[in-house]
Amino acid sequence: MTEHFIDRPLVLGRCTRCGAWILAGHNAGLRVLVDLDHLDAAAELLALAAGRHTYNLLTLRRAVWAEWRCSFRIAAPRRHPVVASHPCWQRGFTPMPAVSAPESPVEATDERIPF
Ligand SMILES: [Zn+2]
Repeated sequence: MTEHFIDRPLVLGRCTRCGAWILAGHNAGLRVLVDLDHLDAAAELLALAAGRHTYNLLTLRRAVWAEWRCSFRIAAPRRHPVVASHPCWQRGFTPMPAVSAPESPVEATDERIPF
């Protein structure tokens, strides 16, 4: 039902509760916070039994996207890395600070805006 909602690529950051490195974004309109560890089939089963969602990590246009693994995707052969939702995903997320160019000094001028 949520397949037509907006997706946003995942960004790296830290969980505000436990401080772990996680990825955050949106899948089908829902916020997604996932661990970085890739899961094999047994680990995915344990994650699902613990009540966590699992996602395919898709790489498209230099960005990483999460795709929720419904029962059909779980049953199909794996073509992407699989990760699980972060256990304390509802708490919060602090994105990794963006790398920016060093600030160049701005010279003060007496010029006024001409309009
Ligand atoms: Zn956490």
